[in-house]
Amino acid sequence: MSLSPQLWTAEVVYAGFGTPMKNGAIAVVGQHVVGVGGLEELRRAFPQAEIIPKGRALTPAPVNAHTHLDLSALPYFRGRYLDFLNYVIGNAEKRGLEAARIGYAELRRLGVGAFGDIVARDEVMDFLLEESMLPGVAYREVIGANPDTAQEIFDTVKPRLLAWKKREGNLRVGISPHTAHTVSAPLLQRLVEFARLEGFPMQIHLAESPAEVEYLRYDRGPLLPFLQPYRGPHWKTPGVSPVRYLADLGVLGPHLTLVHAVQVAEEDVQILAQSGCKVVSCPRSNEGLACGEFPWEVYLKWGVEVALGTDSRASSPDLNVKNEALHLWGKVDPRVLVRSATRAGYRVLGLAMPRLSRGTPIAEVHIW
Ligand SMILES: [Zn+2]
Repeated sequence: MSLSPQLWTAEVVYAGFGTPMKNGAIAVVGQHVVGVGGLEELRRAFPQAEIIPKGRALTPAPVNAHTHLDLSALPYFRGRYLDFLNYVIGNAEKRGLEAARIGYAELRRLGVGAFGDIVARDEVMDFLLEESMLPGVAYREVIGANPDTAQEIFDTVKPRLLAWKKREGNLRVGISPHTAHTVSAPLLQRLVEFARLEGFPMQIHLAESPAEVEYLRYDRGPLLPFLQPYRGPHWKTPGVSPVRYLADLGVLGPHLTLVHAVQVAEEDVQILAQSGCKVVSCPRSNEGLACGEFPWEVYLKWGVEVALGTDSRASSPDLNVKNEALHLWGKVDPRVLVRSATRAGYRVLGLAMPRLSRGTPIAEVHIW
């Protein structure tokens, strides 16, 4: 084992605190980090060190902040958002525990530091609570578009959530109202009130597709015939943007993370910034389902925390969150992407950010 120092460099070096650096480096001796800083500064400190380029980025372990592990057995789908919904519904038998095991094994292989998973089946929640070695949040999905069923659905899910919460280990239990168009206003409000009271973190898919905006604003478009049979006689069309709708319902806040949030105007992003909501972006899924492009510059302007997720294997070719960042590399500032794939992910999941500093084993340095 060589004990002469090496300086590892990459396009972006991020120690987990401060700002991700261009022209940064990590000084390594043997199996440990001995310093992190600017390349020039470290060259002065270690004049004999060999300089080793390591690729795109050096960071703490990245975070996949949004997956659906129980969909890992579905082949990768590209096409329209509505066709995707039908594809997932039509392949319900491929969904479940075995698929979740496959997805979880993939996350372990990839070396993620944490994950956020949307759990649609009770047996998957049991599996994750018992077996996950990784920290993060398993969000139980709740669906119910018909306002008349809100109380009944809430009464069914509430005791289960409380029972799971008692079994939290590496993973915490969260709640995921599916979307604003598949969960009625009274159910959404009951869930958010309960989550605030009991301390459950939440994720909701919101402002994902143009069809969703058309449906919520104008009660028309391709989602209307799809959702009409489920929504009952007392569903009320919000008549406003998805973000404005949730703001009007009083459900936005730091406990709630929006997934996608692609179909937004600047006014919506401003509302999110003021409410303290965080966002998870899934760029490859959005592209594959023709949902539009995430307005990074608007979110940066308003200072909203944006994490990255792959979404499920049904709308993403893999569960590698680094590939989400690399997909946008250069189009979006790589330092922003690196921070999103690491620090923002830990923040969304309520976890402390690991740091690379003197004494960190090199096994904990993630090479992109
Ligand atoms: Zn999703």
